[in-house]
Amino acid sequence: MKRLYVLALLAFLAEASFAQVIIHPDPYVAGLVEAVSADSVEASVRRLAAFGTRHTLSETDSETEGIGAARRWIRRTLERYAEAGGGRMEVAFDEFPYRADGRRIDRDVVMKNVVARLPGTDPNDDRVFIVSGHYDSRVSDIRNATDYAPGASDDASGTAAVMELARVLAGERFPATLIFMTVPGEEQGLIGARHFAEKADSLGWNVAGMITLDIVGNTLGDNGTKDNRTIRLFSEGVPVTETERDAGLRRAVGGENDSPARQFARYLKEVGERYAPLMRVKLIYRRDRFLRGGDHIPFSEHGFAAVRMTEPNEAFTRQHQDVRTEDGIAYGDVPDAVDFAYIANVARVNLAGLVNLALAPPPPQKAGLWARGLSVDTRLVWEPPAAGADRVAGYYVLVRDTTSPVWEKKIFVGNVTEYTLKGVSKDDNFFGLQSVDAAGHESRILFMKPIFR
Ligand SMILES: [Zn+2]
Repeated sequence: MKRLYVLALLAFLAEASFAQVIIHPDPYVAGLVEAVSADSVEASVRRLAAFGTRHTLSETDSETEGIGAARRWIRRTLERYAEAGGGRMEVAFDEFPYRADGRRIDRDVVMKNVVARLPGTDPNDDRVFIVSGHYDSRVSDIRNATDYAPGASDDASGTAAVMELARVLAGERFPATLIFMTVPGEEQGLIGARHFAEKADSLGWNVAGMITLDIVGNTLGDNGTKDNRTIRLFSEGVPVTETERDAGLRRAVGGENDSPARQFARYLKEVGERYAPLMRVKLIYRRDRFLRGGDHIPFSEHGFAAVRMTEPNEAFTRQHQDVRTEDGIAYGDVPDAVDFAYIANVARVNLAGLVNLALAPPPPQKAGLWARGLSVDTRLVWEPPAAGADRVAGYYVLVRDTTSPVWEKKIFVGNVTEYTLKGVSKDDNFFGLQSVDAAGHESRILFMKPIFR
């Protein structure tokens, strides 16, 4: 038995033929992950459900009912977290008028995103990472703005997770900027998120990653499966904003499975599972579920790497339903049906990924795979990041077989600006690159495209 194991290991090493890195989790990040509280998440979900409805066109004058009271409560709570964290986190409404559109919005309305921004400490590091949930809710009839619509999983769960990240991180300092956002109008056409994505684009922000947490609370699916260990992560393959030239290159050498969104998803899986080992991040290689959309889509449309997280087994009896019992089946998105410990674990996965990114140096630049001339070796070249290069301790080269869905090898190559993989065919593999600091925080992954300079 033992001998077999050794042989298998030797075979693996022989095949790998280069060293894999051993990654030690950073105790600082682990401590923050530990600070996420299921009780705090539960309190937020129950409070949000208690506003009766959070329909986008519901009451805004009451202090106890409707979307107005809900967003003011979210804002006050985030302001309290900001104050407890020393006042660096900025909390504000991002408000805008929205005209009746003859579809799901039948009168003019003022929409208010609630945005908590934790500014980066490095003025030269312009990376912004956004995590978002939608605070509006609905019942069966999308136009009904008065009936009880607790929206506990859709999407008080995501809203509560975002708020919990803000609570834990408000007092921390990272080189890059983090934005904790909750938005309205998702059910009416991704309105709040679309406004923010347009704004980010028009202001020229470097949104290096965006995650929407939407329906992350139910762990019992309509298929009878109970799973509180898996989170699905949706990412699109070919970017909407791909140019003709990029498309030509992609058809020639592959890369349809290597969009920035997909690299972001692989990153969140690796780092999320590193710090929340009970959880499995299940990559889904499509933009969203059938007949559904989410707040990541407007960000994708503006060329940002944007992904969606959703519970593992759909419970359609819970989503977008009047709260009722029919033929012995309980319908409705009520707080008692969501799993608060699970939402906290989803928050932990996100916290690990976002903090690791915000601490990491930016990725290298002008990176590519040397494609001039034929060779049995693979030569990768790059330049250090324009900002934060002083924090770079070195680089990871990532390698995988062309048919593998995830990176298979991660090689630390030192603080260099080129690396040759001897005898490794560029025809048979895909390559990625990350910068990494001395504490092991990796940047986002660059997919290595051919360069001919
Ligand atoms: Zn939703």
